[in-house]
Amino acid sequence: MARTDVIVLGAGIVGTSVAVHLVKRGLAVALIDRGGVGEGTSYGNAGVIEGNTVFPPAFPSDWGERLRVVLKRSPQANYHFSFLPKIAPWLAAFYAASQPSRLVETARLMRPLMARAVAEHEALSSEAGAERYFRRTGWLKLYRSERGFAARQRELQVAKDFGIANVMLDPDGARALEPSLAPVFRHAVHWTGAVSLSNPLAVTRAYAARFTALGGLSFSGDARSLRRIDTRWRVDTSAGAVDAGDAVVALGPWAPDLLDPLGVALPLAVKRGYHRHFRPDGNAALSRPVLDAENGYCITPMEQGIRITTGAEFAPRDAPPTPVQFDRLLPAARNLFALGEPVEAQPWMGARPCFADSRPVIGRAKGQRGLWLAYGHGHWGLTLGPATGRLIAEMMTNAVPFCDPTPYSAERFTR
Ligand SMILES: Cc1cc2nc3c(=O)[nH]c(=O)nc-3n(C[C@H](O)[C@H](O)[C@H](O)COP(=O)(O)OP(=O)(O)OC[C@H]3O[C@@H](n4cnc5c(N)ncnc54)[C@H](O)[C@@H]3O)c2cc1C
Repeated sequence: MARTDVIVLGAGIVGTSVAVHLVKRGLAVALIDRGGVGEGTSYGNAGVIEGNTVFPPAFPSDWGERLRVVLKRSPQANYHFSFLPKIAPWLAAFYAASQPSRLVETARLMRPLMARAVAEHEALSSEAGAERYFRRTGWLKLYRSERGFAARQRELQVAKDFGIANVMLDPDGARALEPSLAPVFRHAVHWTGAVSLSNPLAVTRAYAARFTALGGLSFSGDARSLRRIDTRWRVDTSAGAVDAGDAVVALGPWAPDLLDPLGVALPLAVKRGYHRHFRPDGNAALSRPVLDAENGYCITPMEQGIRITTGAEFAPRDAPPTPVQFDRLLPAARNLFALGEPVEAQPWMGARPCFADSRPVIGRAKGQRGLWLAYGHGHWGLTLGPATGRLIAEMMTNAVPFCDPTPYSAERFTR
């Protein structure tokens, strides 16, 4: 049996970053996943390290948009009708957290973590030799209507208060950055501090290789076998049992599979999301992610092609894919950018692990000594993986944490 200090369950961007930060602090660490490193949710995102994002994606405030969602016409969101009763309490909490004053509060509570997001990725990527996947070209958000742009003014004001850099552009200014965009929009905001990745999977794998180079151990195993033996935690792997004084749950959308039976039931939901790669038509090209804000999709240049990612779908995590949002968004995407043939036969599907207040849980699990939680990063898991890794490693080693972890405590759900 392998005896370690910490077992990290889940080798997505969050668990892998936690594992590297712990091993760097001199602990013996086992990283466990039942699949390949970075092949869960962390595989398929839009590749944006959004350290400059202010408001989380929110419940639509516009009645017209709400109606389009209800009628299943909106590219922004989709839902399975039969799932609504189950998700209703979470949606009610999400609606409450989407009120303007709550969005400002969320922005303030998330700022310390967001402000470290890019720097922590840069530190890890330079150690891991992954810089070649990083683009420092920011990201571009486009608004097709005056109304859509006007709705973002409060967020822009808060960004100004936080000192987050952005540049307002007209269509000509945006097309000077991205000449392949058609002038079908009226306003653009260039968030200059954002960084994007050309291959999120390769980055998580590079961080995992760094973990191994520092002496970390990787195992294949099922996290649900975690159990307490006397004062320690034990999990079964294909190489035998692994035992440790502490365990960190970084299972993203699968965290409840382990935590619910342990009595650590937190109100996590998933927002499913899809991606599909397309070849650019002719010599069309992009050098940064572009969000078509009112159509709810992002296009990002990736090594595999132009990746289109969709907004949220409210459906059971494990229900068969229903990628209908592509039918709704593709006409808009095609009139913005010259898309050629799709690269894959079918879209990829993932599930963003989301708490209704758009904050992750980072810290101790109540009532289970030596059990730590690092999950629920929603739309920002790629962004916040390394900052989360540093924060929890500092908490676990009794170092002074770089920010106050209280806003991310699981206890906010029981207060
Ligand atoms: C379409 C889409 C676009 C997105 N775009 C962005 C973006 O641009 N920027 C951003 O910051 N975020 C983005 N996100 C969100 C981001 O991808 C996620 O928040 C993040 O990947 C979550 O990482 P994680 O490590 O918590 O989970 P995961 O990557 O899902 O990792 C969990 C791991 O646990 C393993 N696991 C599960 N069950 C078990 C078990 N029983 N035993 C062992 N192992 C198990 C899985 O195999 C997996 O490897 C996007 C998400 C989607 C779906």
